[in-house]
Amino acid sequence: MTSIIVEACLEIIERDQSGVRASFRGPLQDAPSASSTSIANGLSQQLIHQLQIMLPNVFVSFDDLNVDLLDAAFPYVQSAAKQGLQQAIQDRGAKMLVNSCYRTIAQQMLLYNDRFNNSNPVAPPGASNHQTGLAIDIEDPRGWEPFLIRYGWNPLPGDPPHFDYQGGGDIRSQSILAFQRLWNQNNPNNKIGEDGAFGPQTEAALNQSPAHGFAKAPWDNQPRILKLNQPRMEGSDVERLQQALKKAGINVGVDGEFSPGTDKAVKEFQAKKTLTADGIVGPKTMAAMA
Ligand SMILES: [Zn+2]
Repeated sequence: MTSIIVEACLEIIERDQSGVRASFRGPLQDAPSASSTSIANGLSQQLIHQLQIMLPNVFVSFDDLNVDLLDAAFPYVQSAAKQGLQQAIQDRGAKMLVNSCYRTIAQQMLLYNDRFNNSNPVAPPGASNHQTGLAIDIEDPRGWEPFLIRYGWNPLPGDPPHFDYQGGGDIRSQSILAFQRLWNQNNPNNKIGEDGAFGPQTEAALNQSPAHGFAKAPWDNQPRILKLNQPRMEGSDVERLQQALKKAGINVGVDGEFSPGTDKAVKEFQAKKTLTADGIVGPKTMAAMA
């Protein structure tokens, strides 16, 4: 097991303040310095879906809990850690503001490439505790501390916003493996080793990867449930949904991002088809579109 480098989580900004996210379409290595890790949300969502396919029922979303999330805070932890989080939130009876939780290795690569602008250490991709699926950074850490400790989440000394769940396996090598598989599916003539380790070959491949995601996405074979989410869902599957809605005569923009406008369009379509108009696109709504 790789040792954990203590990062200064307070210094790691995942909020999209610059608005540069929407316009950047290049590889990770060309990302502007000090940009938010949300610049890679497209690729990050592909990595998260790939990891969910690899670890069903282990790596789960907690967006159904009473939480609010920053622009690039992907609400995923391991299932035991989610249970602890749920209990802490219920016990305190308050909404939790999450600045960062599961960080994909695409996000970590951006932070690592920018490490010389940081006065504190940044872990290389796959070595941060934010890749374990057992870490969160939150607002009001002192207020939450007694509740989190009660349910297995311990503060990390010297890193105020950060808590780690005690228990669950380490999924950091799977986080790297998810990328290696995604890369190989998209680069059959330039394959890299699928060893779950972050070596020079994997680093070079990750740096060459498109921030908005690969042409072949993991959801092509195993669809995601699409809905209005924080951070917003984006990708080829959202674009296909928007095209289908348009074809069905619903007024909607086709930009590959599941916005409030897309949510409204889905509900309109569902109502038209006498489905539950909840804005959640699962197998039933998809079937009604075919
Ligand atoms: Zn942290």
